[in-house]
Amino acid sequence: MWSSARDVAAGDLVIIWQTRELIQPLLITPGKDLNSRFGYYRHADLVGIPYGSKVGSRNGKGFIHVLRPTPELWTMALPHRTQILYLADIAFITSWLDIKRGSSVIEAGTGSGSFSHSIARTIGSVGHLWSYEFHEARANKAREEFSLHGMADIVTLTHRNVCKDGFTVEDTVDAVFLDLPAPWDAIEHAKKALKKTSPTRICCFSPCMEQVLRTVSALNDSGFTDITMFETLLRPHEVHQLSLQPLTQAVEKLKKLEQKREDKRQHQIARSSKRKRDDLQETDADNVGGKRLRTQESGDEDVSIRDIPDAVVDPGQSANQPSPIKLSVSKVSPDVRGHTSYLTFARLVPTAPSKSVAIQE
Ligand code: SAM
Repeated sequence: MWSSARDVAAGDLVIIWQTRELIQPLLITPGKDLNSRFGYYRHADLVGIPYGSKVGSRNGKGFIHVLRPTPELWTMALPHRTQILYLADIAFITSWLDIKRGSSVIEAGTGSGSFSHSIARTIGSVGHLWSYEFHEARANKAREEFSLHGMADIVTLTHRNVCKDGFTVEDTVDAVFLDLPAPWDAIEHAKKALKKTSPTRICCFSPCMEQVLRTVSALNDSGFTDITMFETLLRPHEVHQLSLQPLTQAVEKLKKLEQKREDKRQHQIARSSKRKRDDLQETDADNVGGKRLRTQESGDEDVSIRDIPDAVVDPGQSANQPSPIKLSVSKVSPDVRGHTSYLTFARLVPTAPSKSVAIQE
């Protein structure tokens, strides 16, 4: 798949990284220009530069990075013709379907080919992917891309409705992946396509629970076992670097915080005794059974060891003091984004043929 040469050549497909949200594929065609809000670039200027280069625009408006395509970058950059699978799900499915170099795999439907690219790289030229798509224009476009990306020998793409007409191979594949609106209609066909000589696996990708329930019933009816459903959610971790302070400094700061806490406590005691005195005076002056409005006290801030400022290097620290130790810590973001779908996995274990016992006379 794709060029492994060090330098970009005319006719190469490269990935142009502009920002995390702006990543696009580009076929290097000398004579053409690339225009973006980060400036303009001549394709011809990119020929001969090493992959990974940072290139400034001709009109000084910004820069781009010119990257070698990988399945991961392709998934981030590809033109969407359908909903696609993203990397977290692709990695999980590949692992749970036990897809590896040399595996034979079926996927349906092909869609925009995001999953296909990762699988083609994993199985390599010694494996094979049979991909099925019933939307003709999508099938043709994906076939064209597979050929342009050097995957034509690894992937066989067939235009067909797999729920109605099944797959084109029997007793052949190690794994089946179904990303279809009605996967339950393809499960009996998938069973026929799976090898019968060793345990094999299937995965169905469905966005809602009703689809999962129908799929699980169909898997049970067809004799699949170990049916398990997962949901992949992305939980970002923010990584920070903290500077650990020398012990003497930390103790100094703790003492100051303790003092601050004590001052605050004394202040509160003084305030509450004053309030009691005021209340008594008010009750005497205005003791006619009315409701008394309580004013909202400001939140009582508690000072704890967590308040010690971290990552602060004392500017007065002399040059011969040991430099602070750097520590990487991660904070989990409470924001869990990206329910994509439910992943239902199952195994098909061949039943051992019954042994015939020879009876000797
Ligand atoms: N997994 C793909 C990817 O990562 O790019 C995306 C697949 S997309 C969500 C689902 C595709 O299945 C669509 O392109 C649709 O046309 C195709 N499809 C739906 N029903 C089908 C069927 N019965 N047979 C074959 N393809 C089908």
